[in-house]
Amino acid sequence: LNMNKNSGQNLSSLLLDWYQENKRDLPWRRSKDPYSIWISEIMLQQTRVETVIPYYTRFLQDYPNVRALAEAGEEEILTSWKGLGYYSRARNLHRAAQMIQEKYQGIIPNAYEDLRLLPGIGDYTAGAVLSIAFNLSFPAVDGNVLRVVSRIAGWEEDIRDAMGREKIGHIVSGLIPPGRAGEFNQALMELGAELCIPKNPLCTDCPIRSCCSAMSTGRQSCIPVKKQAKSPVPLEYWVAVLRRDKSVLMQYRDQTALLGRMWGFPMLIKMLSAEPLNEFTQQIGLELREMRRLGETKHVFTHQVWRMEAIEFIWEETQNELPKGLAWIPFDKMDHIPIPRAFQKIIKLCDIGV
Ligand code: SF4
Repeated sequence: LNMNKNSGQNLSSLLLDWYQENKRDLPWRRSKDPYSIWISEIMLQQTRVETVIPYYTRFLQDYPNVRALAEAGEEEILTSWKGLGYYSRARNLHRAAQMIQEKYQGIIPNAYEDLRLLPGIGDYTAGAVLSIAFNLSFPAVDGNVLRVVSRIAGWEEDIRDAMGREKIGHIVSGLIPPGRAGEFNQALMELGAELCIPKNPLCTDCPIRSCCSAMSTGRQSCIPVKKQAKSPVPLEYWVAVLRRDKSVLMQYRDQTALLGRMWGFPMLIKMLSAEPLNEFTQQIGLELREMRRLGETKHVFTHQVWRMEAIEFIWEETQNELPKGLAWIPFDKMDHIPIPRAFQKIIKLCDIGV
Protein backbone atom coordinates (compact mmCIF):
# COMPACT_ATOMS: atom_id res chain seq x y z
CA LEU A 1 0.00 0.00 0.00
CA ASN A 2 1.43 3.23 -1.13
CA MET A 3 0.88 5.28 1.94
CA ASN A 4 3.00 6.67 4.73
CA LYS A 5 2.50 5.93 8.39
CA ASN A 6 0.49 9.06 9.03
CA SER A 7 -2.01 8.45 6.31
CA GLY A 8 -2.35 4.81 7.45
CA GLN A 9 -3.17 6.01 10.97
CA ASN A 10 -5.52 8.53 9.50
CA LEU A 11 -7.34 5.85 7.52
CA SER A 12 -7.65 3.59 10.57
CA SER A 13 -9.07 6.27 12.81
CA LEU A 14 -11.51 7.53 10.16
CA LEU A 15 -12.72 3.99 9.63
CA LEU A 16 -13.07 3.24 13.35
CA ASP A 17 -15.01 6.46 13.97
CA TRP A 18 -17.36 5.61 11.14
CA TYR A 19 -17.83 2.09 12.47
CA GLN A 20 -18.66 3.30 15.97
CA GLU A 21 -21.44 5.43 14.59
CA ASN A 22 -22.78 3.19 11.88
CA LYS A 23 -22.33 -0.42 12.87
CA ARG A 24 -25.36 -2.65 12.64
CA ASP A 25 -26.56 -4.13 15.89
CA LEU A 26 -26.02 -7.84 15.26
CA PRO A 27 -26.48 -10.47 17.98
CA TRP A 28 -22.89 -11.74 17.84
CA ARG A 29 -21.55 -8.21 18.19
CA ARG A 30 -23.00 -8.09 21.70
CA SER A 31 -20.69 -10.89 22.77
CA LYS A 32 -16.99 -11.32 23.36
CA ASP A 33 -17.39 -14.99 24.11
CA PRO A 34 -14.99 -16.88 21.81
CA TYR A 35 -17.46 -19.74 21.37
CA SER A 36 -20.27 -17.45 20.17
CA ILE A 37 -17.90 -15.57 17.88
CA TRP A 38 -16.67 -18.81 16.40
CA ILE A 39 -20.22 -20.11 15.74
CA SER A 40 -21.24 -16.83 14.12
CA GLU A 41 -18.16 -16.74 11.91
CA ILE A 42 -18.77 -20.27 10.64
CA MET A 43 -22.45 -19.58 9.97
CA LEU A 44 -21.67 -16.34 8.16
CA GLN A 45 -19.40 -18.08 5.67
CA GLN A 46 -21.44 -18.39 2.47
CA THR A 47 -24.66 -17.29 4.19
CA ARG A 48 -26.29 -13.89 4.46
CA VAL A 49 -26.51 -12.02 7.75
CA GLU A 50 -30.34 -11.92 7.80
CA THR A 51 -30.52 -15.67 7.26
CA VAL A 52 -27.96 -16.39 9.96
CA ILE A 53 -29.55 -14.38 12.80
CA PRO A 54 -32.40 -16.79 13.75
CA TYR A 55 -30.13 -19.84 13.31
CA TYR A 56 -27.44 -18.31 15.47
CA THR A 57 -29.85 -17.52 18.28
CA ARG A 58 -31.41 -20.97 18.23
CA PHE A 59 -28.09 -22.78 17.92
CA LEU A 60 -26.69 -21.01 20.97
CA GLN A 61 -29.79 -21.91 22.94
CA ASP A 62 -29.49 -25.56 21.95
CA TYR A 63 -25.69 -25.71 22.32
CA PRO A 64 -24.64 -22.92 24.68
CA ASN A 65 -21.00 -23.98 24.97
CA VAL A 66 -18.28 -26.20 23.56
CA ARG A 67 -19.19 -29.07 25.82
CA ALA A 68 -22.87 -29.09 24.82
CA LEU A 69 -21.90 -29.09 21.15
CA ALA A 70 -19.25 -31.77 21.59
CA GLU A 71 -21.68 -34.08 23.36
CA ALA A 72 -24.57 -33.66 20.91
CA GLY A 73 -25.24 -36.22 18.17
CA GLU A 74 -24.27 -35.40 14.59
CA GLU A 75 -27.74 -36.06 13.22
CA GLU A 76 -29.26 -33.65 15.74
CA ILE A 77 -26.75 -30.92 14.85
CA LEU A 78 -27.35 -31.37 11.14
CA THR A 79 -31.06 -31.07 11.74
CA SER A 80 -30.66 -27.72 13.48
CA TRP A 81 -28.41 -26.65 10.61
CA LYS A 82 -31.11 -27.54 8.10
CA GLY A 83 -31.64 -24.66 5.68
CA LEU A 84 -28.22 -23.05 6.20
CA GLY A 85 -26.59 -25.29 3.57
CA TYR A 86 -22.92 -26.24 3.24
CA TYR A 87 -23.32 -28.95 5.84
CA SER A 88 -19.62 -29.69 6.09
CA ARG A 89 -19.48 -26.53 8.21
CA ALA A 90 -21.75 -28.15 10.80
CA ARG A 91 -19.80 -31.40 10.79
CA ASN A 92 -16.53 -29.54 11.20
CA LEU A 93 -17.95 -27.47 14.06
CA HIS A 94 -18.97 -30.67 15.79
CA ARG A 95 -15.60 -32.36 15.34
CA ALA A 96 -13.74 -29.21 16.35
CA ALA A 97 -15.87 -28.92 19.51
CA GLN A 98 -14.99 -32.51 20.40
CA MET A 99 -11.30 -31.78 19.91
CA ILE A 100 -11.48 -28.60 22.01
CA GLN A 101 -13.31 -30.49 24.72
CA GLU A 102 -10.73 -33.24 24.75
CA LYS A 103 -7.55 -31.26 24.33
CA TYR A 104 -8.36 -27.93 25.97
CA GLN A 105 -11.10 -28.91 28.45
CA GLY A 106 -13.69 -27.01 26.45
CA ILE A 107 -11.78 -23.71 26.36
CA ILE A 108 -11.17 -22.27 22.91
CA PRO A 109 -7.43 -21.79 22.45
CA ASN A 110 -6.11 -18.31 21.71
CA ALA A 111 -3.03 -19.32 19.71
CA TYR A 112 -3.16 -19.11 15.94
CA GLU A 113 -1.43 -22.48 15.40
CA ASP A 114 -3.81 -24.30 17.74
CA LEU A 115 -6.89 -22.83 16.13
CA ARG A 116 -5.69 -23.58 12.62
CA LEU A 117 -5.38 -27.27 13.46
CA LEU A 118 -9.10 -27.51 14.20
CA PRO A 119 -11.40 -28.72 11.42
CA GLY A 120 -13.16 -25.94 9.51
CA ILE A 121 -10.92 -23.17 10.82
CA GLY A 122 -8.90 -21.53 8.08
CA ASP A 123 -6.88 -18.34 8.07
CA TYR A 124 -9.93 -16.14 7.99
CA THR A 125 -11.81 -17.78 10.89
CA ALA A 126 -8.67 -18.00 13.02
CA GLY A 127 -8.02 -14.30 12.43
CA ALA A 128 -11.63 -13.37 13.16
CA VAL A 129 -11.79 -15.32 16.44
CA LEU A 130 -8.38 -14.11 17.63
CA SER A 131 -9.06 -10.48 16.84
CA ILE A 132 -12.74 -10.22 17.80
CA ALA A 133 -12.81 -12.46 20.87
CA PHE A 134 -9.25 -12.01 22.16
CA ASN A 135 -8.39 -8.66 20.60
CA LEU A 136 -5.12 -10.04 19.26
CA SER A 137 -3.56 -8.30 16.30
CA PHE A 138 -4.45 -10.70 13.45
CA PRO A 139 -5.98 -9.78 10.09
CA ALA A 140 -9.26 -11.45 9.08
CA VAL A 141 -9.49 -11.35 5.31
CA ASP A 142 -12.87 -12.38 3.94
CA GLY A 143 -14.40 -11.44 0.58
CA ASN A 144 -15.48 -8.02 1.83
CA VAL A 145 -12.05 -7.17 3.17
CA LEU A 146 -10.36 -8.34 -0.02
CA ARG A 147 -12.54 -6.01 -2.02
CA VAL A 148 -12.19 -2.98 0.26
CA VAL A 149 -8.44 -3.25 0.72
CA SER A 150 -7.68 -3.99 -2.91
CA ARG A 151 -9.62 -0.86 -3.82
CA ILE A 152 -7.91 1.29 -1.20
CA ALA A 153 -4.53 0.01 -2.35
CA GLY A 154 -5.35 0.14 -6.07
CA TRP A 155 -4.42 -3.55 -6.25
CA GLU A 156 -4.78 -4.81 -9.83
CA GLU A 157 -3.68 -8.40 -9.47
CA ASP A 158 -6.07 -11.31 -9.31
CA ILE A 159 -7.40 -11.55 -5.75
CA ARG A 160 -8.41 -15.19 -6.13
CA ASP A 161 -4.90 -16.48 -5.79
CA ALA A 162 -3.39 -17.22 -2.41
CA MET A 163 -0.53 -14.76 -2.89
CA GLY A 164 -2.99 -11.93 -3.37
CA ARG A 165 -4.79 -12.85 -0.16
CA GLU A 166 -1.57 -13.04 1.74
CA LYS A 167 -0.47 -9.61 0.56
CA ILE A 168 -3.83 -8.10 1.45
CA GLY A 169 -3.42 -9.74 4.88
CA HIS A 170 -0.06 -7.95 5.29
CA ILE A 171 -1.59 -4.62 4.37
CA VAL A 172 -4.38 -5.12 6.94
CA SER A 173 -1.86 -6.11 9.63
CA GLY A 174 -0.02 -2.87 9.04
CA LEU A 175 -3.19 -0.84 9.47
CA ILE A 176 -4.53 -2.42 12.69
CA PRO A 177 -4.25 0.19 15.46
CA PRO A 178 -2.74 -1.18 18.71
CA GLY A 179 -5.34 -2.88 20.91
CA ARG A 180 -8.21 -2.47 18.45
CA ALA A 181 -7.86 -5.45 16.13
CA GLY A 182 -11.37 -6.79 16.65
CA GLU A 183 -13.10 -3.51 15.95
CA PHE A 184 -10.82 -2.69 13.06
CA ASN A 185 -11.40 -6.00 11.26
CA GLN A 186 -15.13 -5.69 11.77
CA ALA A 187 -15.06 -2.10 10.55
CA LEU A 188 -13.41 -3.20 7.30
CA MET A 189 -16.00 -5.95 6.83
CA GLU A 190 -18.81 -3.57 7.63
CA LEU A 191 -17.56 -1.03 5.12
CA GLY A 192 -17.48 -3.80 2.51
CA ALA A 193 -21.01 -4.91 3.37
CA GLU A 194 -22.58 -1.46 3.55
CA LEU A 195 -20.70 0.99 1.32
CA CYS A 196 -17.85 -0.59 -0.57
CA ILE A 197 -20.21 -3.08 -2.17
CA PRO A 198 -19.27 -5.10 -5.28
CA LYS A 199 -21.22 -3.00 -7.81
CA ASN A 200 -21.52 0.78 -7.65
CA PRO A 201 -19.84 1.39 -4.29
CA LEU A 202 -21.22 4.39 -2.39
CA CYS A 203 -17.98 6.33 -2.44
CA THR A 204 -19.50 9.70 -1.68
CA ASP A 205 -20.56 8.41 1.76
CA CYS A 206 -17.30 6.59 2.40
CA PRO A 207 -15.29 7.74 5.42
CA ILE A 208 -11.96 6.82 3.82
CA ARG A 209 -12.50 8.12 0.30
CA SER A 210 -9.61 10.55 0.70
CA CYS A 211 -7.23 7.59 1.17
CA CYS A 212 -8.66 5.38 -1.59
CA SER A 213 -6.59 4.77 -4.68
CA ALA A 214 -9.43 3.24 -6.73
CA MET A 215 -11.63 6.23 -5.98
CA SER A 216 -9.01 8.81 -6.83
CA THR A 217 -8.35 7.19 -10.21
CA GLY A 218 -11.96 6.17 -10.96
CA ARG A 219 -11.19 2.44 -11.03
CA GLN A 220 -13.74 1.19 -8.49
CA SER A 221 -15.54 -0.92 -11.09
CA CYS A 222 -12.40 -2.74 -12.27
CA ILE A 223 -10.99 -3.51 -8.83
CA PRO A 224 -10.91 -6.13 -7.41
CA VAL A 225 -9.69 -8.06 -10.43
CA LYS A 226 -11.07 -11.59 -10.58
CA LYS A 227 -10.37 -14.18 -13.20
CA GLN A 228 -13.46 -15.81 -14.61
CA ALA A 229 -14.61 -18.62 -12.34
CA LYS A 230 -15.63 -21.90 -13.97
CA SER A 231 -19.38 -22.15 -14.33
CA PRO A 232 -21.06 -25.02 -12.45
CA VAL A 233 -21.62 -28.33 -14.27
CA PRO A 234 -25.29 -28.99 -15.10
CA LEU A 235 -26.64 -32.44 -14.10
CA GLU A 236 -30.13 -33.73 -14.83
CA TYR A 237 -31.81 -36.21 -12.52
CA TRP A 238 -34.96 -38.25 -12.18
CA VAL A 239 -36.14 -38.20 -8.59
CA ALA A 240 -38.48 -40.96 -7.42
CA VAL A 241 -41.38 -40.13 -5.12
CA LEU A 242 -43.19 -43.06 -3.51
CA ARG A 243 -45.82 -42.57 -0.84
CA ARG A 244 -47.39 -45.03 1.56
CA ASP A 245 -50.01 -44.07 4.16
CA LYS A 246 -48.54 -41.06 5.88
CA SER A 247 -44.94 -41.66 4.87
CA VAL A 248 -42.58 -41.25 1.95
CA LEU A 249 -39.66 -43.32 0.74
CA MET A 250 -36.35 -41.62 1.42
CA GLN A 251 -32.72 -42.52 1.04
CA TYR A 252 -29.85 -41.99 3.46
CA ARG A 253 -27.09 -40.73 1.20
CA ASP A 254 -23.74 -42.37 1.00
CA GLN A 255 -21.10 -40.49 2.97
CA THR A 256 -18.92 -39.98 -0.09
CA ALA A 257 -21.75 -38.39 -2.11
CA LEU A 258 -22.47 -34.69 -2.31
CA LEU A 259 -24.86 -34.00 0.63
CA GLY A 260 -23.66 -37.29 2.12
CA ARG A 261 -24.92 -38.66 5.45
CA MET A 262 -28.19 -36.80 5.03
CA TRP A 263 -31.60 -37.77 3.69
CA GLY A 264 -32.73 -37.40 0.08
CA PHE A 265 -34.74 -39.35 -2.47
CA PRO A 266 -33.76 -42.17 -4.83
CA MET A 267 -32.28 -40.54 -7.93
CA LEU A 268 -30.99 -41.48 -11.37
CA ILE A 269 -28.97 -39.48 -13.83
CA LYS A 270 -31.28 -38.87 -16.78
CA MET A 271 -28.64 -39.33 -19.43
CA LEU A 272 -27.82 -42.81 -18.16
CA SER A 273 -31.40 -43.89 -17.54
CA ALA A 274 -33.59 -44.11 -20.60
CA GLU A 275 -36.21 -46.14 -18.75
CA PRO A 276 -36.63 -44.77 -15.25
CA LEU A 277 -39.45 -47.18 -14.41
CA ASN A 278 -37.29 -50.26 -14.90
CA GLU A 279 -34.21 -48.76 -13.39
CA PHE A 280 -35.92 -47.46 -10.28
CA THR A 281 -37.60 -50.87 -9.91
CA GLN A 282 -34.16 -52.39 -9.66
CA GLN A 283 -32.79 -49.73 -7.36
CA ILE A 284 -35.74 -49.69 -4.96
CA GLY A 285 -36.79 -53.33 -5.12
CA LEU A 286 -40.55 -52.65 -5.17
CA GLU A 287 -42.86 -53.52 -8.07
CA LEU A 288 -43.24 -50.18 -9.79
CA ARG A 289 -46.23 -50.12 -12.13
CA GLU A 290 -46.83 -46.67 -13.49
CA MET A 291 -45.20 -43.30 -13.33
CA ARG A 292 -46.48 -39.78 -13.33
CA ARG A 293 -44.39 -36.66 -13.82
CA LEU A 294 -44.82 -34.16 -11.00
CA GLY A 295 -42.65 -31.29 -12.18
CA GLU A 296 -39.13 -29.91 -12.15
CA THR A 297 -36.98 -27.96 -9.77
CA LYS A 298 -33.34 -26.99 -9.69
CA HIS A 299 -30.68 -26.47 -7.08
CA VAL A 300 -27.42 -24.60 -7.58
CA PHE A 301 -24.27 -25.72 -5.76
CA THR A 302 -20.86 -24.11 -6.14
CA HIS A 303 -19.68 -26.63 -8.74
CA GLN A 304 -22.89 -28.27 -9.94
CA VAL A 305 -26.43 -27.37 -10.90
CA TRP A 306 -29.00 -30.09 -10.37
CA ARG A 307 -32.11 -30.08 -12.51
CA MET A 308 -34.43 -32.55 -10.87
CA GLU A 309 -37.59 -33.95 -12.37
CA ALA A 310 -39.80 -35.59 -9.79
CA ILE A 311 -41.79 -38.64 -10.80
CA GLU A 312 -44.34 -40.36 -8.66
CA PHE A 313 -44.73 -44.12 -8.94
CA ILE A 314 -47.72 -46.36 -8.46
CA TRP A 315 -46.29 -49.53 -6.94
CA GLU A 316 -47.05 -52.82 -5.31
CA GLU A 317 -45.80 -54.20 -2.08
CA THR A 318 -43.41 -57.14 -2.40
CA GLN A 319 -41.94 -59.44 0.17
CA ASN A 320 -38.51 -58.00 -0.46
CA GLU A 321 -36.85 -55.92 2.20
CA LEU A 322 -35.93 -52.40 1.19
CA PRO A 323 -32.30 -52.12 0.11
CA LYS A 324 -29.86 -50.62 2.59
CA GLY A 325 -30.20 -46.87 3.00
CA LEU A 326 -33.86 -46.71 1.97
CA ALA A 327 -36.59 -46.16 4.55
CA TRP A 328 -40.20 -45.08 4.87
CA ILE A 329 -40.12 -41.77 6.67
CA PRO A 330 -43.38 -40.70 8.35
CA PHE A 331 -44.38 -37.17 7.37
CA ASP A 332 -44.24 -35.99 10.97
CA LYS A 333 -40.62 -37.20 11.31
CA MET A 334 -39.36 -35.23 8.34
CA ASP A 335 -38.68 -32.17 10.49
CA HIS A 336 -36.43 -34.19 12.78
CA ILE A 337 -33.93 -35.56 10.29
CA PRO A 338 -31.35 -33.69 8.20
CA ILE A 339 -32.83 -33.04 4.76
CA PRO A 340 -30.76 -30.58 2.72
CA ARG A 341 -32.41 -27.78 0.83
CA ALA A 342 -32.10 -29.44 -2.59
CA PHE A 343 -34.49 -32.16 -1.37
CA GLN A 344 -36.71 -29.79 0.58
CA LYS A 345 -37.48 -28.36 -2.83
CA ILE A 346 -38.75 -31.76 -3.98
CA ILE A 347 -40.88 -32.04 -0.83
CA LYS A 348 -42.40 -28.68 -1.58
CA LEU A 349 -42.82 -29.29 -5.30
CA CYS A 350 -44.67 -32.55 -4.72
CA ASP A 351 -46.65 -31.44 -1.64
CA ILE A 352 -45.20 -34.34 0.32
CA GLY A 353 -46.62 -34.49 3.80
CA VAL A 354 -49.47 -32.11 3.03
S1 SF4 B 1 -13.96 5.28 -1.66
FE1 SF4 B 1 -15.33 3.87 -2.67
S2 SF4 B 1 -14.01 2.27 -3.49
FE2 SF4 B 1 -12.82 3.39 -1.99
S3 SF4 B 1 -13.08 2.25 -0.11
FE3 SF4 B 1 -14.64 3.85 -0.12
S4 SF4 B 1 -16.45 2.89 -1.02
FE4 SF4 B 1 -14.69 1.60 -1.50
